[in-house]
Amino acid sequence: MAKVFVITGPSGVGKGTLIRILRERVPNLELSVSATTRPPREGERDGRDYHFLAREEFARRADANDFLEHAAYSGQRYGTLRSEVERRLAAGRSVVLEIEVQGARQVRAAMPEAVLVFIAPPDPAALRARLEGRGTDTPRAISERLRTAELELEAQQEFKYVVCNDELERAAEELERIVRDELDP
Ligand code: 5GP
Repeated sequence: MAKVFVITGPSGVGKGTLIRILRERVPNLELSVSATTRPPREGERDGRDYHFLAREEFARRADANDFLEHAAYSGQRYGTLRSEVERRLAAGRSVVLEIEVQGARQVRAAMPEAVLVFIAPPDPAALRARLEGRGTDTPRAISERLRTAELELEAQQEFKYVVCNDELERAAEELERIVRDELDP
């Protein structure tokens, strides 16, 4: 049966990398492309990495109830369009969402059958190192993301599954096992 998998956790924890590996190993998992008001980073493409929307357009679609969930994060808005999820489920395909914690809570409320996985860092210093190493955020944005991360880390006990990204291959295997077990119990 097709399922919705929500991968959440603080920015810089490695959600994107783990999902990339997961999708290489578990076929037929499709990634929901989120909408955001933040500007594209170098190399990001509209419709592939995000649907990049102007603030007015995002607000219009939120008012139209087009979002399964949406949240404000670091001064920008991010959201999962219902259409991204629904058309895939209708076609019998499982969907992966990579979203922050407020959005994950909204998905849990709207779709109690969704499988939620929290990716946790081995320690807070690992987040700073990753965000700095990635080189995509200004020092101020990094500080803001780290402050948000502290709140997000407190939320981890709310989630059914917690995977600690202490070592990439180990964490990838744990995530793969969770997804395979949920798809084929
Ligand atoms: P970034 O700006 O680094 O691409 O994303 C910032 C944060 O927003 C990350 O934690 C990312 O997982 C989250 N995010 C991305 N798309 C969505 C979405 O559709 N909804 C929510 N709630 N968060 C999202």
